[in-house]
Amino acid sequence: MTINKQHYLDAMGIQTWVRRNKPESTEALMLDESQLVTEDQKVELTIQRQPSGAELPPGDKVSNYNWQQLRGAVNQCIACELHETRKNTVFGVGNEQADWMVVGEAPGADEDRQGEPFVGKAGQLLNNMLLAVGLRREQVYIANILKCRPPNNRDPRPEEVVKCEPFLKRQVELVNPKIILAVGRIAAHNLLKTDVSLSRLRGKVYYYGEFETPLIVTYHPAYLLRSPLDKRKAWQDLLLAQSVCQGD
Ligand code: URA
Repeated sequence: MTINKQHYLDAMGIQTWVRRNKPESTEALMLDESQLVTEDQKVELTIQRQPSGAELPPGDKVSNYNWQQLRGAVNQCIACELHETRKNTVFGVGNEQADWMVVGEAPGADEDRQGEPFVGKAGQLLNNMLLAVGLRREQVYIANILKCRPPNNRDPRPEEVVKCEPFLKRQVELVNPKIILAVGRIAAHNLLKTDVSLSRLRGKVYYYGEFETPLIVTYHPAYLLRSPLDKRKAWQDLLLAQSVCQGD
């Protein structure tokens, strides 16, 4: 193995992973105490956030939005019930002219608290995965299928995905990346409109949206934290994405 490759693998934690037998942290699965609301508070929340006119700008309107308008629309969105339990919307972050766009599932507890995608443990691994192909987090654009946290980190519901879809679609159009990296089953299934298993989706190049942006599927970093042996496959996915991005 070349020194360079070892360096990249180290960055992804492939060689040095030592926590294989440690029980998975339950932190992400537990409700943050500060998020528990009383029935009275719930009623108040609901009343304060009653729709004031259109719940969500129509898709054709969103499709013309600039960054500022899009950010504002996400911030104010009350199109699905996730707005009732979110602390913050999680719009997306990074280089708005990035070559690489990473799309995940939905905010978790850390992201909900900070209003930024992939800031928890999975985010740290994502940063290292990107570093493994020579990319700093700030160089890519990172977004999720959903902009609000599903309670208890449950899977996004189809109706939530449908409501949120115009936002991500517009983000992809505005960034116009050379490659989209869909991390995890939920991102892959919703971007590609399929329910084929993630392991079968890996290793191929797909095309997303009107611009036919190349799209590669890989494992979600949270899954890789639980199944570190699959980091090697993720490394192969990253190399494939890199070669597509470079037009090889
Ligand atoms: N998992 C995701 O899919 N997205 C995040 O932003 C955080 C964790």
